Amino acid sequence: MKKLLFQFDTDTHPSTFDTVVAYDGGADHVIGHGSLTPENVTPLVEGTIFTRAPKDKQNTAIFIGGSNALAGQELLQAVQNHFFYGFQVSIMLDSNGCNTTAAAGVAKLGSSGKLAGKKAIILAGTGPVGQRAAVMMSQEGADVTIVSRQIEKSQQACAAMQERFGVTISATEAADMDTRADIIKDANIVFATGAAGVELLKEEHWKDIPSLEMIADANATPPLGIGGTDMMDKGIDRHGKIIWGAIGFGTLKLALHRACIGKLFESNTQTFDAEHIFKLAKEMA
Ligand code: NAP
Repeated sequence: MKKLLFQFDTDTHPSTFDTVVAYDGGADHVIGHGSLTPENVTPLVEGTIFTRAPKDKQNTAIFIGGSNALAGQELLQAVQNHFFYGFQVSIMLDSNGCNTTAAAGVAKLGSSGKLAGKKAIILAGTGPVGQRAAVMMSQEGADVTIVSRQIEKSQQACAAMQERFGVTISATEAADMDTRADIIKDANIVFATGAAGVELLKEEHWKDIPSLEMIADANATPPLGIGGTDMMDKGIDRHGKIIWGAIGFGTLKLALHRACIGKLFESNTQTFDAEHIFKLAKEMA
């Protein structure tokens, strides 16, 4: 029986990155659908749940991706609304790599030092990766603040995270590097989750902060999010701080993504969202 992965993407074109990882994770065949919404997904879900016998249903699974994490979350909910006892397949949500990237970064930070009780700042934390990283840090007991160039955006993100995960995260605004530097001056952990190729801080902004213990940067496209670091940094020491670069923890991100795909086919009742993916990341880290 072939392992079929249906790639449901909220963007027009299903992510090629997600397609490659789906095959590498163990799917025999990947079928991509783009521009999916809660309104048009019904027949596609029905095709996955009404076809194979109960003992064979674990060979069909759904992956939800796309650049908008909120749209992904709504699509996940819509898909699950069609499931009922005996008629469901396993499903994974990872819009823009939000869960696997955040989980890998936070798990690696957690492997390098304590997160509980620490003051953590998520720079440019309003994107898919930043929001999930904020949630995972908060669930580990850190006091988390996300930074945006617009306070309304960071407040909206915090409200969405509170609604979905019940976590309390603070919101703040910084439109330039000097303001970001001021925000991190008494932080213990900084996780930069800005858009690709956007430098958020220079080395001079972080190297002399005594309270700062650890930095992670998700951006692997030069210039990096945090100046004075290297994307290959794997928990190395720079100026007395532990640094995780985007490729440094990206190896775990890819392994985690593949592992989740493989596990989708172990039974037909699993949901891989932030909670399960972060749990697995901590085991793998
Ligand atoms: P995103 O949504 O593209 O951007 C995140 C935030 O960056 C935005 O919400 C925006 O925040 C801020 N931003 C955009 N342009 C900016 C600018 N010119 N100056 C300052 N801030 C700016 O990012 P994402 O999809 O969450 O991904 C985060 C990062 O992870 C990206 O760099 C991505 O390439 C990387 N990534 C890494 C891996 C890995 O394995 N290492 C895997 C997947 C993704 P505000 O508008 O609120 O300021």
